[in-house]
Amino acid sequence: MPFFIDTHCHLDAAEFDADRDAEYARAVAAGVGIQVVPAVSRDNFAAVDAVSARYPGCLPAWGLHPMYIGVHRPEHLADLRTQIEARRPVAIGEIGLDLFVRGLDYATQEFFYIEQLKIARDYDLPVLLHCRKANDELLKHLRRIKVRGGIAHAFNGSPQQADEFIKLGFKLGFGGAFTWPRANNLRRLAVNLPLDAIVLETDSPDIPPAWIGRGRNAPGELPRIAQTLAELRGLDIETVARATTRNARTLFGLEEDPV
Ligand SMILES: [Zn+2]
Repeated sequence: MPFFIDTHCHLDAAEFDADRDAEYARAVAAGVGIQVVPAVSRDNFAAVDAVSARYPGCLPAWGLHPMYIGVHRPEHLADLRTQIEARRPVAIGEIGLDLFVRGLDYATQEFFYIEQLKIARDYDLPVLLHCRKANDELLKHLRRIKVRGGIAHAFNGSPQQADEFIKLGFKLGFGGAFTWPRANNLRRLAVNLPLDAIVLETDSPDIPPAWIGRGRNAPGELPRIAQTLAELRGLDIETVARATTRNARTLFGLEEDPV
């Protein structure tokens, strides 16, 4: 059976409180042996830590998400360093910029993004980037503050922006969004980008694939997302699994399977 890595999964989210064990087991049974679980705020570190301690396939990332700038405080950056030292993550995330959601002060977002890029650089860790309508802004700072690559999570930009991320050592994260038949831009990218630039993700419980509709997404859906990518590219699922898993392993420095 192919081995998959869900490079972005919020298994700690309250949406999974009733059946988290079952959804984790379903993912492992489907071949999703690793899930990267990014934190979104300082107060969320404990929940991500608990999930990572309970499930051997869940690997934490620590970060302060741009949609939660209302709760972040400058001193949380010191707490982030403490957390990294307490439990080494596979990445710094989820960090980034969001120019889509209204009412998120841009200067504050930029401050936390820049400071966390510096932390990622200091600890030689890749970053998981939330990017909505802000690819050029994200890239501008990545050219200045050199981190060890990362993932442009839920990437939806132009082929030129994709190339710029790739040049900086980044992979592009693809999940449920491109499975929708009318997602023309994403489908074109999913077909045309080099396979060694792509990693798979679910962003569970968000970004449900077409077959779930408006329901809750789960990491066990990742193989079907891989199958959809394989069909679009005219490949078999084993080829897609092998390539995307290798890409994620290289990025996160994961040589061995935790489960
Ligand atoms: Zn996320």
